[in-house]
Amino acid sequence: MLGLMQSWPLTVDKILDHAARWHGHREIVTRSVEGPIVRGTYAECHDRAKRVSSALKGWGVKLGDRVATLAWNTQRHMEAWYGIMGIGAVCHTLNPRLFPEQIAWIINHAEDRIIFVDLTFVGVLEQILPKCPTVERVVVMTDAWNMPQTTLPRAECYEQVVAESSNVCEWGGFSEETACGLCYTSGTTGDPKGVMYSHRSNFLHTLVGLQADVLATSVRDTILPVVPMFHANAWGVAFAAPAVGAKLVLPGAKMDGQSIYELLSTERVTTSAAVPTVWQMLLTHLQSHGLKLPDLERVTIGGAACPETIIRAFHDDYGVDVFHAWGMTETSPLGTTGSLTPEVSSQPFDQQVPYRLKQGRPPIGIELKLTDDEGNILPHDGKTFGHLMVRGSFVAGSYFKGAGGNILDKQGFFDTGDIATIDPIGYMQITDRAKDVVKSGGEWISTIDIENIALGHPAAEQTAVIGVPHPKWDERPILIVKLKEGETATRQDFLDFLQGKIAKWWMPDDVVFVDDIPLGATGKIDKKVLRARLKDYRLPSASPEPA
Ligand code: ADP
Repeated sequence: MLGLMQSWPLTVDKILDHAARWHGHREIVTRSVEGPIVRGTYAECHDRAKRVSSALKGWGVKLGDRVATLAWNTQRHMEAWYGIMGIGAVCHTLNPRLFPEQIAWIINHAEDRIIFVDLTFVGVLEQILPKCPTVERVVVMTDAWNMPQTTLPRAECYEQVVAESSNVCEWGGFSEETACGLCYTSGTTGDPKGVMYSHRSNFLHTLVGLQADVLATSVRDTILPVVPMFHANAWGVAFAAPAVGAKLVLPGAKMDGQSIYELLSTERVTTSAAVPTVWQMLLTHLQSHGLKLPDLERVTIGGAACPETIIRAFHDDYGVDVFHAWGMTETSPLGTTGSLTPEVSSQPFDQQVPYRLKQGRPPIGIELKLTDDEGNILPHDGKTFGHLMVRGSFVAGSYFKGAGGNILDKQGFFDTGDIATIDPIGYMQITDRAKDVVKSGGEWISTIDIENIALGHPAAEQTAVIGVPHPKWDERPILIVKLKEGETATRQDFLDFLQGKIAKWWMPDDVVFVDDIPLGATGKIDKKVLRARLKDYRLPSASPEPA
C-alpha cells in the first residue's frame, strides 16, 4: 500500500524559489572578482538565475547536459548554479586549483557544452579550450565594462546575457532523481572521478545540514562560506543559506586573513565554514593586529583535521565555538560533525577538547561502519583502527561513466579510503588516509595525530608525517616541519615537545626541516609529492619496539 501524501519532488530549484518568496529582501553580499563589494538579494538572485536558464535554453541546453563553472564564490556563481540546475542541466563545478591539463581532461570527460568563467581564469581557458572540442560557448562572468579581449571562441558577457534574457522560465517538472551537480575528486589516486549528485540527494543533504547538530544555520544567521563552491558544494552552504533565508556573504577570490576579517567584521558574520589553513591565516591576522570578532559565534572546520591550537584560540581568545566536521566529495560532503553530546558538554572545556578534536558523529541520513581488511566489523572502543565505510541517501553509489567499477561492498557501503577509530559514545576520529598510513611492526601509527600535536610547537608553521622504509619495522615515521618565518628550532626541540604526548613507539625517528610543504588542489598536504621529494632520504637510527 502506498502513502497518500502529495507528490512534491525534492528538486533544488524549490530552494531558491522559497528564498525569493519568503526571504526575498535578505542580502547576498559579494567581494566581486573585479574588486568592489556588491550587494544583492535572494529575490534579485532568483530573477537573474531565471534569466540564465532562459539563455541556456536559447542555446539549446537540455535535460542532463553538462554546463560547467570555473569560478569563485560570488552571487553570479550562485545565479549560474540555480540557472543550470533549475532546467535539469547538470552544474559541473570545475576546480581552478588543478593543473590546466587536468582541467582539460575533466572538461572532456564530462563533455561540458558551456562554461561560465570568472575573469581570473579566462587565461587558463584560453590555453586549454583548443583541446576541449565539446565546449560550444564560454560566458565570462563580468559586465561589458570589464569584458576582456579574449581569444575564446563564442565568448559571451554575463551581464549582457542576463540583461537580454527573459526572467520567465519554468523550473523543475522532472524527477527528483535527475542529475543536478557534478564534482570530480581531486585524483590523488589515479584519474579524477566524477561524483554525480541528484536533486534529491542535494535536497536531503540540505535538510540534514540544517540540523542544530550539523551546520545549525537559521534565518538569524549571517554566513560566510570560505570553502569554495567548487570544493564539494561549499559543504552545502549555497543550498542551506537560501533554504532558511540566512544572509550570505561571499568572499570572491580573496581568502587571505585580512580580506576574510574585513568581511566577517563589516558584515557582522555569525557563522562561517573553511579548512584549517584558512582559519590559521585569520587567527594570525587577528593576533598580530589585536583584532576581535564580537559577532562571530561558531565556525565549521573540516576538509582536514583541525589542530588543537585553532580550537583553543577560537574558544579562549574570541569566544567562538568550533564545529569540527568530516566529509568528502562522495558524501555531498557532510558525513560527521563534532557537536557535543550531553556526556561531553557537561564536562569542563579542557575535558571536552579530546572529543572536539575528533571528527564527530553521523547525523540522520548517514550510516557508518568500521571494518578490518576482510570487511569484518571492528569494535567502537576508540582504539581499534579500521576502514571507515559509509552508506546513505547522499553518498555516491557509483562514479560518472562507471569509473572505478563497483565502489560499494555487499551491504552497499562505500569505502571512504580513510582509516578511523570510533569511541564508545560514537565519536569517530580520522587517523589517516589509507594511502598515507604508516605501519610499523604491523601496527598503525596515526600520522594526523602526530602532525597536529607537533603543530602546537610555537615555531611550527606546517607539519607532516610520512613513513620511510625500515629494515626491521618495515616503516617508521619521520616528522617534516616548515618553520614560521624568523623562527628557529632543532630536531631535538621537536622530539622533546612530542615526548609524553604520544606513545613511545610513535615517536618519529627523525625531524626534517623544509622550506615548503606541498599542498594539493583542495589545500591539503600532498604526501605523494612529499614522499617523492624525500625518496633519497635515509633514516639515521634504529627505533623503539612497538607496544
Ligand atoms: P580529496 O580527497 O580529493 O582532497 P575531498 O575534499 O573529498 O577530496 O576530501 C575528503 C577527504 O578529506 C576525506 O576522505 C578525509 O581524508 C579528509 N578530511 C575531510 N575532513 C576531515 C577532517 N575533519 N579531519 C581529517 N580529515 C578530513
